Amino acid sequence: MRLRNIPGAREAIVDSKYAVKNPEQQKGHWHELFGNDHPIHIEIGMGKGRFITTMAALHPEINYIGIEKYSSVMLRALQKQEDTELPNLYFIRMEAEVITEVFAPGEVSVIYLNFSDPWPKDRHAKRRLPSREFLRRYDVILRKDGRVEFKTDNQDLFRFALEETEPAGWKQDAVTFDLHHDEAMNEGNVMTEYEERFSTKGNPICKYIISRDVKR
Ligand code: SAH
Repeated sequence: MRLRNIPGAREAIVDSKYAVKNPEQQKGHWHELFGNDHPIHIEIGMGKGRFITTMAALHPEINYIGIEKYSSVMLRALQKQEDTELPNLYFIRMEAEVITEVFAPGEVSVIYLNFSDPWPKDRHAKRRLPSREFLRRYDVILRKDGRVEFKTDNQDLFRFALEETEPAGWKQDAVTFDLHHDEAMNEGNVMTEYEERFSTKGNPICKYIISRDVKR
């Protein structure tokens, strides 16, 4: 995402009732915000929020929370939500490294990572959202039968992500290097902003679905 500074973005986020302030205070109580016991699905690094907003409209029986570290980007998602007012969609502006301070153990059912930043330098590997360091955090907040779904067009990042799963104790339930030509995995696929941009350029989209190895 471009880091263009939109004047007033932070203030607009503070004003929106769909941007959760002090999210660590909701830890273990997210269901109260939604007023029901539906499963919680989150997207980490949701950018302008097209994917999560579309998912929330399609699946009213699921609660969605979009996480994004930059206010200028998150503002676009909030503006959409101020118009549509979907009851099952909220946003948090935060750095995902502290995700275990915001969700209680087992509170989340699905984590979506879409077109995460590649951090190409080896010394920055820990910052990659599908790294084993992050998988360890997801392990804490995800239900035992929960899953992580990751999409990217970056082949290097995808290969790295595949190699991280087993050492961190996860199993690969489904993998494709060309999602849009994989009939089974592409069924019901909701495109993200980046996915549309990169697939239009001709880049194949990679996707995995992983879950915990129950034998552990
Ligand atoms: N998911 C969107 C945007 C992809 S760009 C899409 O597919 O179109 C990646 C986004 O993740 C950027 O907006 C970036 O600011 C955000 N991001 C990257 N690392 C993050 C982190 N550690 N915590 C929160 N957001 C992060």
